[in-house]
Amino acid sequence: MNLSDGSPEAALDRSDRRGTGGWESVLADEAHLVAPGGEWRSELWRVAVEQFDRAADLLGIDPEVRSRLLEPCRALTVNFPVRRDNGEVEVFTGYRVQHTLTMGPTKGGVRYAPGVSLGECAALALWMTLKCQLVGLPFGGAKGGVRCDPNRLSHSELERLTRRYASEIFPIIGPNRDIPAPDMATGEQEMAWFMDTYSQQVGYAVPEIVTGKPLLLGGIIGRQSATGLGAVYSVESVLERMGWDLHGLRVVVQGFGNVGAVIARELALRGAILVGISDVTGGIASATGLDVGALIAWVGEHQFVRGFPGGGSVAREDVLQISCDILIPAALEHQITADNASSLDCRLVVEAANGPTTPQADRILADRGIRVVPDVIANAGGVTASYFEWAQDQQKYLWDSQAIDDRLRKQLRDGIERVFASADRFDIDWRTAAQTVAIERFAAAATLRAIYP
Ligand code: NAD
Repeated sequence: MNLSDGSPEAALDRSDRRGTGGWESVLADEAHLVAPGGEWRSELWRVAVEQFDRAADLLGIDPEVRSRLLEPCRALTVNFPVRRDNGEVEVFTGYRVQHTLTMGPTKGGVRYAPGVSLGECAALALWMTLKCQLVGLPFGGAKGGVRCDPNRLSHSELERLTRRYASEIFPIIGPNRDIPAPDMATGEQEMAWFMDTYSQQVGYAVPEIVTGKPLLLGGIIGRQSATGLGAVYSVESVLERMGWDLHGLRVVVQGFGNVGAVIARELALRGAILVGISDVTGGIASATGLDVGALIAWVGEHQFVRGFPGGGSVAREDVLQISCDILIPAALEHQITADNASSLDCRLVVEAANGPTTPQADRILADRGIRVVPDVIANAGGVTASYFEWAQDQQKYLWDSQAIDDRLRKQLRDGIERVFASADRFDIDWRTAAQTVAIERFAAAATLRAIYP
């Protein structure tokens, strides 16, 4: 009998097997069965679960509550065609994962990258929930993206891809349901197309459907630089706690995009010396310091850092090993691993990217006395500014740039103070401390709402 057969005989057969206890053993034999949580299986999800479990163990969270907090609440996979400029049609796969609907609408970026998967989006959505709780935003986490190589797509192909992806996930997004934002390889232009596509569907302009939009469409001053600035505010708080002076400290930044370029610029403005930088094309180093303004101008003209004449070229993977005080991964996940953690030559790691350090590497760094400012606080500036933009669009009341910057700084500093307080309370590392703060709040909210029906 075919188990997927929907006939009455098959139903009887199934109930018989269940009744005799044989049904479970039939299921257990099925090689294709998905283990609990198996939908999200990916290296990043494994990392996210390991980090989450460590904090949940410390808090003594009940296993039943734990799985409610951990597993994403809703996930959508879409496959859709896009016409390439040469007339051919290519089918792309995209995702949108909403981790929790408990605290409000969900919020999270959209990325275009070759490695985008359901499991990656699930891990990133969970971290978004934790970030929002840590800095006190009324959101759950979400994440989405399209598996593609954005460097191979023209401007018009990117527009068609963005519009079609927006239409595909339309049923589950909305200003009070789920609000996308930029992430890897997406920015103001993609958000403008996204907002236009959504607005066309409903028949009126809905700026609050996305954040990270151009100013003219309801964006806010400073959203583009908020993630990088937030990382800089985290650095300032940490240095105050450690009694270090930023002036003259040597910094290496991996990644020179939305986040990395702002961090490099802002830290250099505050007196740090940028001794190494990299992007997907390679690295540039100078022991006496790179001229960040010249680097930004170079990338503006040539798109990548490769060939920049103001420093020596270094292999992309060697940039992380350059001797420095602060190493800032600001590119992508899984960069500091068991393979290279022993050879890092820094005193502090600040995770501007999501998930750049594996749990094994975390342990090696801890043994070596290198402290890590975790992603959930170091890059929370982006979602915090996104919250301001969403609130402004909902209220139809414009905020001035000073108010935005003051609140961004305060909200992040408050968040990191909560991390320090939890680190002191449990005598633990900052990553676990950040997760305990966020999970404790989330668990309390879930308990208050209880279970429907
Ligand atoms: P981006 O696409 O603007 O920039 C990514 C940069 O990393 C580019 O310079 C790219 O060339 C470089 N890069 C890619 N692969 C690399 C490699 N193997 N080695 C070195 N450099 C490499 O993306 P972004 O928005 O700056 O995001 C960077 C990270 O920050 C991601 O992990 C993202 O999830 C995280 N983040 C971004 C935001 C945001 O507001 N944009 C918010 C929170 C977190």
